[in-house]
Amino acid sequence: MKIINKEIDIKTSSRMEIIDISSKISEILVASGLKQGIINVFTRHSTSAVVINENEPRLINDFENFLKEIISENKTYGHNTIDNNADSHLRSFLLGTGQSVPFENYKMDLGTWQSIFFVELDGPRNRKVKITIIG
Ligand code: ZN
Repeated sequence: MKIINKEIDIKTSSRMEIIDISSKISEILVASGLKQGIINVFTRHSTSAVVINENEPRLINDFENFLKEIISENKTYGHNTIDNNADSHLRSFLLGTGQSVPFENYKMDLGTWQSIFFVELDGPRNRKVKITIIG
């Protein structure tokens, strides 16, 4: 068994942004030379998330609107008395900070309509996503 650690740098350009990072992760996986195992994608920031879903532009837009609707920006939050981003943290709480995907034959075993997304919830910022490959 081998463990490989890598990092992806992501520069976001707006407050909320949903970025497909599947191809970057695939490149790292192929370069690792590992044939089968588990790949973990983890964001080290409490105002971001990693999710898996379909990369369809209208759906991405629906997802952004849904997050804004269920967790409003214009509400009185305790955290906003020390930092003006409680809504970003709350959205991250709901979505989670990591995903694990099995891989076989040097390829992630994602479903046909599945992509891995980094979700920026308090951008624009420079972010780091940790990739751990165990195979
Ligand atoms: Zn904060």
